Amino acid sequence: MLELASYRNQSCTLSGQLPTERMARLRDIGTAADEAAVSLTLTAESRGDIELSGRVEAGIGMTCQRCLDPVEVPLVSEFEFVIIDAAEARAGDEESAEVIVVDDGMLRLRELVEDELLLSLPVVARHDVDTPCRPLSQQFGPGEEDAAPAGENPFAVLKDLKRDRED
Ligand SMILES: [Zn+2]
Repeated sequence: MLELASYRNQSCTLSGQLPTERMARLRDIGTAADEAAVSLTLTAESRGDIELSGRVEAGIGMTCQRCLDPVEVPLVSEFEFVIIDAAEARAGDEESAEVIVVDDGMLRLRELVEDELLLSLPVVARHDVDTPCRPLSQQFGPGEEDAAPAGENPFAVLKDLKRDRED
């Protein structure tokens, strides 16, 4: 939780590591890194509003949906909000995606960071060009070639070669 009173008149930048220990929703999805890197800029605006911009970053271990091996997925989100006190909020503010309405002068930072990390999750977790899936020949040992999808069987070529030799 971040006490907002001190940011209403003066802007500031904060950065640090936030433990993910109590981010249960994030931890349900995979093996989250112990800490998320957070940087925030709070800018005092008129009416006591505070403009909040920042960036959060954390890695999460998931299962690659292509090769089913573990994959480390980097979660990065950049965001911009206006924090408005409930007493000053206008109609529609509550529904606006860019507005955070607070009623007790406190910003629920952990919740915000967790939301942002969840929003940056990929639709499908899988390896990418930097850390590619293992080649099929390493995933399927000899005798398991039936497990490979039809048309993509890397052993088909080997079988053909073998038959040629027997002829
Ligand atoms: Zn993979």
